[in-house]
Amino acid sequence: MRKPVIAGNWKLYKTIAESVALVHELIPLVVGNQRVDIVVAPVFTALSRVSDAVEGSHIMLASQDCYWEEEGAFTGEVAPKLLKDAGCSYVIIGHSERRQYFGESDLTVNKKIKAAIAAGLRAIVCVGESLAERESDQTFAVIETQLKGGLADISEEAFSHIIIAYEPVWAIGTGKTATDAQAQEVHAFIRQLIARLVGQPIADAVRILYGGSVKPDNVKGLMTQPDIDGALVGGASLKAESFAAIANF
Ligand code: PEP
Repeated sequence: MRKPVIAGNWKLYKTIAESVALVHELIPLVVGNQRVDIVVAPVFTALSRVSDAVEGSHIMLASQDCYWEEEGAFTGEVAPKLLKDAGCSYVIIGHSERRQYFGESDLTVNKKIKAAIAAGLRAIVCVGESLAERESDQTFAVIETQLKGGLADISEEAFSHIIIAYEPVWAIGTGKTATDAQAQEVHAFIRQLIARLVGQPIADAVRILYGGSVKPDNVKGLMTQPDIDGALVGGASLKAESFAAIANF
């Protein structure tokens, strides 16, 4: 009942020409696959051209971040409505790299989610624990704090525009994936937490993606878990063949 989402986070990789070439390669490899929502998140400068390149296909476009104000004296920032204007339908918010290197907090995540949804975007909201937090049994507490803060005062209606991505920081870009059981355990916890916060029907409907070294050879095991509804893919999304193999799991 929850349509899977496979989203590719291209991080700070690829020129405009390389980004367009990647989607041109990707489109024929996923053309018959309507059973998953496929999303790609290029760098800001490539968004508009990639938007033109995916037109007519079922690949959708995301940005990797946004600001929460609509306009003003905010040098260097990009407003959700401008991302929509560039062709985005999704925005990734609170990625661990933004939390780690750019001071993203649960409060800024919350502001960005509200602004993104108000502008008509869907938010892919990332949460996840560090290795030290997992090893000291803090995983559930960390996820609960991130979700309660990030999703504070979000209306029930807005939840239909939110996707959660559970990305254990120790699994991102490291080649170390969470086991199927480790990932499922946290996904089930997230769904129960959302049920506590906004009710079971919303929790049953919300899509929860796993992210952290997802590859063609481990996606299937993850996707057979009852609470895993897709993947947020970094490294393996940079090549059409591996990303298509994940999307066509
Ligand atoms: C990511 O960037 O969100 C990610 C999960 O990266 P990787 O797949 O490379 O671990």
